[in-house]
Parts: sequence; C-alpha cells; structure tokens
Amino acid sequence: MIELRNVHKAFGQNEVLKGINLKVNKGEAAVILGPSGSGKTTLLRCINFLETADDGELIIGDSKVNFRNAARKEILAVRRRTAMVFQNYNLFNNMNALENVMEGLVTGRKFSIEKAREIASQALDKVGLKDKYNAYPLQLSGGQQQRVGIARAIALNPDVILFDEPTSALDPELVGEVLAVMQAVAKEGITMIVVTHEMSFAMDIAQHIIFMDGGNIVEEGTPKEIFTNPKENRTKQFLERIL
Ligand code: ATP
Repeated sequence: MIELRNVHKAFGQNEVLKGINLKVNKGEAAVILGPSGSGKTTLLRCINFLETADDGELIIGDSKVNFRNAARKEILAVRRRTAMVFQNYNLFNNMNALENVMEGLVTGRKFSIEKAREIASQALDKVGLKDKYNAYPLQLSGGQQQRVGIARAIALNPDVILFDEPTSALDPELVGEVLAVMQAVAKEGITMIVVTHEMSFAMDIAQHIIFMDGGNIVEEGTPKEIFTNPKENRTKQFLERIL
C-alpha cells in the first residue's frame, strides 16, 4: 500500500499541490487524470523524490517519510521502493538495452554483474524485447525504447511503478504495444500509478481513477463511478471535453 497524507508543494508563489491525501492499495493500477497544470506530474515526482514536497507524509509499505524533515537514509529507503517510467524514456544513449536495464541494478542495488544481467534479460524478455539486448536506444523505435524503460522499472522489483505520461511522446501506431506491456504489468499485480491521457487504459485496465484539478484531488473512485457517474462538476466538464 502507498499512502500520501496532506502533501503540499509550491514552486515559488505557485502552489501546485494543496494538501493531497491518497491511498493506493497493493496490486492496484491507479490512473491520475486531470487538465494540464493540475499537478499530476509533480505528484508523481514527489513520490519518487525527484521533487521534494514541502510538507506531508509518504508511506510505502512499512517505510514512512515526513517531507518536512526526512533523513537521507529514510528518503533512500522509500526511493528504493519506487521506480519511474518517463514520458521521454530517459535511457542512456551510449548503453545498449541490456546495459540500460542493468545500470540501476549494479550501481543502485549493488547486484553483481552476472545477477544484474540475469534479472535484466528476464525483464527485457517480459516486455517482448528478447532479440534487442544489444540494440542502442537510437536503433529502437519509440515504442521499443519505452518498453526498455518499463523493463528497467520492473527489474528493480519496486513496490510501486510510477508512469508519467508513458505514451504521450509516441506516434499513434506505437501506443498500442506500450499499453499492452502496461496491461501485462497490471495483470501481474504490480502496484502502478499512471498519469495518462489514454482513456482505454483508464477505462479497461485501471481499478482506481483519481481526478485532479488545481492542485487538489477533486474526486476518485472506480472507473465505473468516475466515467459513468461523476459527482463533481469539474470532473463532468473534464470528461465531456476528452471523451
Ligand atoms: P501536464 O498534463 O501538462 O503535464 P500536470 O498536471 O502534470 O500537467 P505539472 O507538470 O505537475 O502538471 O505542473 C503543475 C504546475 O507546476 C504548472 O503550473 C507548472 O508550470 C509548475 N511546475 C512544474 N514543475 C515546475 C518546476 N520545476 N519549476 C517551476 N514550476 C513548475
């Protein structure tokens, strides 16, 4: 289980997260929806400490961090429990697919090269890239690069994988292969929090929909509750625009 309690984040005068409270259960695929600028990406980045929230608490499993006074050791313990999949893949272009997946295992997790290679190959096999171990990112399509990004996250065996608009940089014909891999990850029961505009994923695969606007969670519920019977006007208006 992952829980956020009263999380606040401002950039200067711009208050981007205004007291976020959220629980995502173990094994759940949760989708965060909301208009541009509502704070979705910032929320994910605070969970992964790519940004430091100003206030509030983050609990993942039995690790708990208070953003106001977190010790470095506590931050590292929580970070280890998360992995992030980025919109622009964030692969090292000078490393092949296998090396990209191995990197965090060797430098961050201190696995031996042999063990890291074994885990990384299994992760690449899982995302359908068995024949691409030696390919460099620029030799791969965007969809394949993103699948390497997902393999890198899976290989770390985190408690939760955070996906930040994983398909929005892709040509439309490549979106399907990445969604299929994400669906397989969800079926394995890995906890996922996904910021996406892909309504097919939100409607068909997620169990939990979170609608954000203006730095707040306006409404959350099951896909059925949110898509067929939204209670809040802001949710209704947003859905009318995108569906
Ligand atoms: P989008 O769907 O467009 O990606 P979002 O809901 O993910 O939007 P965020 O990217 O979290 O929104 O941005 C929320 C607000 O925070 C925006 O006003 C943005 O300009 C601001 N912001 C985000 N990151 C920074 C930063 N590093 N420095 C200053 N302002 C930032």
